[in-house]
Amino acid sequence: MSTSTKELKELSAYQLLQRNKASLKEALQLLINAKRELNPEFLDQSLINSMKTGWPKDQALPLLFSQNQLYVACSEAAETELAAKLKALAGSSELKLIKINQRSWDFVQNQDKGSGANNGGKATGQLGAHLTESLAVIPEMKISATDENSIGNEVRRILLEAAASGASDIHWEPYENVLIVRFRIDGVLNDICKYKCDPQNDYRKIILARIKIIADLNIAEARIPQDGRVTEIINGSKLDLRVSTLPTLHGEKCVVRLLPHDNSFLELSDLGMPQSIIPGFESWLTMSQGMVLITGPTGSGKTSTLYTSLAKLIDTTKNVVTVEDPVEFQLARVNQVQVNVKAGLTFAAGLRSILRQDPDIVMIGEIRDKETAEIAIKAALTGHLVLSTLHTNDAPSTITRLIDMGVPPYLVSSALVGVMAQRLLRRVCSHCSYEYQSTEEENTQLGISESISLVKAKGCQNCNNTGYSGREGIFEMMPLTEEMKQVISKGVDVEVLNRSMTEMGMPTLYSAAVVKVLEKKTTVEELIRVVPPTR
Ligand SMILES: [Zn+2]
Repeated sequence: MSTSTKELKELSAYQLLQRNKASLKEALQLLINAKRELNPEFLDQSLINSMKTGWPKDQALPLLFSQNQLYVACSEAAETELAAKLKALAGSSELKLIKINQRSWDFVQNQDKGSGANNGGKATGQLGAHLTESLAVIPEMKISATDENSIGNEVRRILLEAAASGASDIHWEPYENVLIVRFRIDGVLNDICKYKCDPQNDYRKIILARIKIIADLNIAEARIPQDGRVTEIINGSKLDLRVSTLPTLHGEKCVVRLLPHDNSFLELSDLGMPQSIIPGFESWLTMSQGMVLITGPTGSGKTSTLYTSLAKLIDTTKNVVTVEDPVEFQLARVNQVQVNVKAGLTFAAGLRSILRQDPDIVMIGEIRDKETAEIAIKAALTGHLVLSTLHTNDAPSTITRLIDMGVPPYLVSSALVGVMAQRLLRRVCSHCSYEYQSTEEENTQLGISESISLVKAKGCQNCNNTGYSGREGIFEMMPLTEEMKQVISKGVDVEVLNRSMTEMGMPTLYSAAVVKVLEKKTTVEELIRVVPPTR
C-alpha cells in the first residue's frame, strides 16, 4: 500500500480502475465513503468534461465507466426527473445513480465553483498544499447563531460526540479562516469537522471563549498558555475534562482530554497482558520492598497498567500513597498527591514528605530527574514497594537511563525488581476485517516459513473507516534475575541484557506484537507502525 500511496494521490479513481490498480468496488469506495460523502480528490475531470453538452454538472457528476455502466453521483435531494434527463444524455450506456449525503454534495459543488473551471485555481508551491486539499473533505458545521446558548450547545454536542466515539482527546485547531475539530480515537487523530470563519463569525474566538468559560480559564488572556480542569456530566456519567490552551499563529489552540471519572480498573489480562507473564508480574507486586518500573513513550498505556497494578495492591492493611502529575484517576483508599511545581511541591519534594508518612506502597507518576530517581531508589531499598514509570523505548534501555540519570549501577541492580516495557496496538475492526494469505515479505517479518491466514480490514462506519477498533497492550518483561544483576554490576551492555532476556524466553515488544498478529487480533501494518523492525 505504501509504495502506491503517491500514485493513488495523483490518479483519479477511474484511472486506477482502468489501470487495474483498483477493482470497481475499491474505486467506488475511494470516491464515496461509508457515510456517503464524496471525495473530490478522486473525481476524474476528463470524464466529467467528456459528457455531452447539456450535461448538468451541478446536479450530476460522472464517477467512472465500467462494462457499459456509467456511475454517476447526485445529491440525495435530486428530483426524479433528473434520472430521465441523464438517461437521455447517457445514450446507450446503462446509468447507475449514487446518492450523496447532502452536506458533502453541497460542499463539493461550492468548492468546484471556487476553484475555477480549468484547475487554474489550485494552490501550488505552498508548503503542505496536499494537506490544505485534505481540509476540503472535512465536513463543515454551521451554527445558526452566535449567542451564548447556541455556541454552548454546539460545544456540548462535540463533547457528547467525542465521549460516544470513545475519544481520549478533542483538538480545536485554529487555521486561516477556519477552526478544525479532531478526535484522538485509539491513539490516532481523526478529522471530525470544521467551522468556516468570517469577520462577523470568528468561531476560532467564539467557540474558544465558550470552552474557556466551561473550564474556568481567563477569557481575556489569549497570549499565554492556560490549563484547567472541570467535571461535567456527559451522557449520564461523570467525565473529567482537562483543558489546555496554547497561543498559535491563527489564535488559541485548545486540547480537551476526556478522563472517565469513575474508572473501574480491569484485570491485567484485559489490558492485553498474556497469561504466560501475568504470574511473574504479579509476583513482583507482592514484594515487600523494591522497585517495579513500567516504561514506554507517552500514549503507550503505562498509566493504565500502573493503576491496574495498584488497584490489585490496595487493601485495608496497607498505606498506599501516590505522587502524580496530573492525578489521572481517583482511587479509593489511596492518598493521592498532586504535584504543584509553582507551590514547590515537585515529584522529589512530594516523595520526601510521603516517606515520612509511613507508607507501604508508593506510586510515583513518573521518574523524570536525578533527584526523584535517587529518592525512589532509596525508598525501594528501605522497606517500600515503589511503582513508577519511565520514558524509555524498551526494558533493557531503562537500566542505562537510570545510570545516565546518575544512579550508581549497584543501586539499580539491588533496588530493581523488574521492568515492564509496553506499547498499545490497535485491534482490527471485527465488522470489516477479512482474511488473506500472508505475503513472503510478511512471512519474513513474522519469522515464519510458510504463508498463513492473517487479517486486514477495509474500514467501515463502525470504525470511522480506520479499520481498527479498540486497543490492547503488548509487553516486554525483564525480571532482574541474579544473572541480570551481574551483567548490570559489570557495567551495562544493552546488547548483553537483550541476549539474556531472549535466553530466558522473555517476550520482547516485537515478539509480543507478532503473537497478536498471528492471533489475528491486529494487522502486520499495525505491528510495523508500533514496533518498527529496526530495533
Ligand atoms: Zn470497520
